[in-house]
Amino acid sequence: MRVLVVEDDAETRELVVRALTRDGHAVHGACSALEARSALADRDVDVVVLDLGLPDASGTSLCTALRAEGQTVPILVLTAHGAVSSRVACFDAGADDFLAKPFAVAELRVRVRALGRRGPLPRALVRRVGDVDLDITARRATRNGVELPLTAREWALLELLAAREGCVVSRAEILDVVWGDDDERSGASLDVIVARVRRKLGESVVRTLRGEGYALGTS
Ligand code: CA
Repeated sequence: MRVLVVEDDAETRELVVRALTRDGHAVHGACSALEARSALADRDVDVVVLDLGLPDASGTSLCTALRAEGQTVPILVLTAHGAVSSRVACFDAGADDFLAKPFAVAELRVRVRALGRRGPLPRALVRRVGDVDLDITARRATRNGVELPLTAREWALLELLAAREGCVVSRAEILDVVWGDDDERSGASLDVIVARVRRKLGESVVRTLRGEGYALGTS
């Protein structure tokens, strides 16, 4: 399995990396949230071991951010204290498992193996935009409990915008992801799809940033 170990304390990181490497995993170490992000962008990872106290971010905020971006890799959180509140915060942030320091290396190895075997769980991506609830994972849009039918292409657009929430997605990228090309005809279809989504879900669901692209509207 490919394991990413995110821990700023060199001694703990090396201990964990060594133990998991001995188990036959391909292990990569990162000592900050920034390094963890670039490692996740560069390589496929099956399990993340994440320390809560990092120099540039808390493990929980990193976990929350990764989940918001649609990252589904199983995450095992290491924490210095076993307080119930921090355990709850970890699970709320989207962590899959939890191990309090000091931990037995044997237990860590077993938990990593179990998470890797289980693989990523599908996570509900649910957004409320205006008066519409969008369940991106289930591809279901509802207003006051009434389902609003959308086509596959309309969903593909919403999925892309939701995955990049908080960012503007350029027309070129939308055409590339949703249509697989960016010729003029697809460009015209994109305008039609955006207009249809707005007609069905409300004007504010897709925001236009002139000259830049589109973004998901938020309530
Ligand atoms: Ca630490």
